[in-house]
Amino acid sequence: MKHKYLKNVQTLRLSHDKCIGCGKCTEVCPHNVIGIENSKAVITDKNSCMECGACAKNCPVSAIKVDANVGCAAAIIFGWLTGKEPSCDCGSAECC
Ligand code: SF4
Ligand code: SF4
Repeated sequence: MKHKYLKNVQTLRLSHDKCIGCGKCTEVCPHNVIGIENSKAVITDKNSCMECGACAKNCPVSAIKVDANVGCAAAIIFGWLTGKEPSCDCGSAECC
């Protein structure tokens, strides 16, 4: 069963105008959130986005924006364990 995250809270945004349809984002996304239709990227399953940031990092024209780590699983588990606000406590987008 495919894991779903909280509904309609993902920060993923895609600029249809900037996209050149290279498909890099579809190759790196671990949850098949993005597809290609009519030679442009489209978000097909936003609620499955884990906000890892891989798509944005690999997009050659900066057509994708996502606030990486805002909703990451590590942050949520850290919050559960500590009773604090969810935070992965890494201070860097590189650790998750
Ligand atoms: S942030 Fe990660 S999970 Fe979300 S669409 Fe991009 S690559 Fe996929
Ligand atoms: S990586 Fe960027 S340019 Fe390439 S298909 Fe995805 S959004 Fe479009």
